[in-house]
Amino acid sequence: MAPPSSSDHPAAAAVEAAGAISKVLIVIAMQTEALPLVNKFQLVEAPTDESVFPKGAPWTRFHGNYKGLHIDLVWPGKDPVLGVDSVGTVSAALVTYASIQLLKPDLIINAGTAGGFKAKGAGIGDVFLATDVAFHDRRIPIPVFDSYGIGARKTFATPNIVKELSLKVGKLSTGDSLDMSPHDESAILSNDATIKDMEGAAVAYVADMFSTPAIFVKAVTDIVDGEKPTAEEFLQNLIAVTMALDVAVTKVVDFISGKCISEL
Ligand code: SAH
Repeated sequence: MAPPSSSDHPAAAAVEAAGAISKVLIVIAMQTEALPLVNKFQLVEAPTDESVFPKGAPWTRFHGNYKGLHIDLVWPGKDPVLGVDSVGTVSAALVTYASIQLLKPDLIINAGTAGGFKAKGAGIGDVFLATDVAFHDRRIPIPVFDSYGIGARKTFATPNIVKELSLKVGKLSTGDSLDMSPHDESAILSNDATIKDMEGAAVAYVADMFSTPAIFVKAVTDIVDGEKPTAEEFLQNLIAVTMALDVAVTKVVDFISGKCISEL
């Protein structure tokens, strides 16, 4: 019998019929976060001239087989003009859209770093599975559009992963800024978020659109309600926390191997 929380989710139906999960798509925003997992799963980079993605897109795909799963790991690549990682919601939504269309994953894992709120129990290096996602910088003060802007949704529930891997759980709030304006702060509070990132809710929006189950594994690089400036703390902890993320994502993928979507 499937746990009700998983099989009740609309995204479960399509994959359910197919039996064991075979294709996993990992969506990651930054190269520093992506490369340890590329090495861990021994993925190879798809050559640009044979890319499944449209010409001109900087999106990068690594792929390979690991413990009976086909893994595609995509990251939006470097900004073509500025050369930095294409972080944020626009790039994340685009690469997720294209990847769902072209790679047809059974499950999406959006893995990355996040800011955490110590008042909600987050500490540096903690790894969270997000139960819910919402936006905190889309303010549209017109009835109904206000809710559309916030875009709150539940993520695909994976009670067995949470139990088995003892991951922390909490709500994730997404916006296109690394820092936090007073407006963002009140919206994050009303989203009841424990963690804050720049991609999650955008990935969830696209995944839901195409009924693809998606989970959000986020490791805390900085404490938003702490003393240290966010950008400084983020850069200081990025490498060490990426290792914690790497370990957690590997455990999640090991758990998924050989299982049906309803067993997560
Ligand atoms: N200065 C960084 C920029 C990365 S932006 C660099 O050197 O490249 C931050 C990335 O980490 C985003 O992908 C975001 O999802 C995540 N992140 C980590 N801490 C965050 C926070 N406090 N608020 C929002 N996003 C955060």
